[in-house]
Amino acid sequence: MIRVLIYNEFVHERESGNKAGEIYPLGIHQAIADFLNKEEDIQAETVTLDDVSEKVTAEKLKNVDVLIWWGHMRHDEVPDSVAETVMEAVLNGMGAIFLHSAHKSKPFMRLMGTSCSLIWRESDDRERIWVSAPYHPIAQDIGPYFELPADETYGEPFGIPSPDETVFIGWFSGGEVFRSGCTWQRGNGRVFYFQPGHETYPTFLNQVIQKIILNAVHWTAPSYRINNCMDCPNVPRPEK
Ligand code: ZN
Repeated sequence: MIRVLIYNEFVHERESGNKAGEIYPLGIHQAIADFLNKEEDIQAETVTLDDVSEKVTAEKLKNVDVLIWWGHMRHDEVPDSVAETVMEAVLNGMGAIFLHSAHKSKPFMRLMGTSCSLIWRESDDRERIWVSAPYHPIAQDIGPYFELPADETYGEPFGIPSPDETVFIGWFSGGEVFRSGCTWQRGNGRVFYFQPGHETYPTFLNQVIQKIILNAVHWTAPSYRINNCMDCPNVPRPEK
């Protein structure tokens, strides 16, 4: 069983008049949990900004195989200690998937160590997402490309360290391109960033997007964990 924890800020969906609340009445986190929990080998739970300090602790993350993170306007309200805890859990082997505007979340920025900046625009551009690594497990059953009728435009330069693999490259009808799906090994843990998913579009209800997130859960889930990534021991000589 792969144990997944989905963090969503859950702010836009509760703002009156925001389309996010119509598309995701129970929140983006619940929409993601709903399709993941249809899988026999996945058990998905959720956490929001309201209870992130209680539910994202070192002790609790020992029982999480993959953490999925969606945040946007309230990155700063996530305590630094939570971001540190997430980073250490990843270094110990927990998988992490960062969605859309989580590129500026504290845990992602800590894991990357760079600006994670990009250019953006809300203009209903169509996006064509090309599979640039067809051999990668995250791209399984996706085909050469797929299209989203509209999402927020993200464009290069994307201030990330060079990915281990760029699995998807997005092209927008406004002209921009973007490294839309990227992976990194961090310590014992695997990290995947995936660009689609602005809150005012039904992106997480799209079956191709759901399949990619499902593939990413399987790929980032650890085969084993370590528990001492932060140790720096002084040791005796192995040779007598
Ligand atoms: Zn957005």
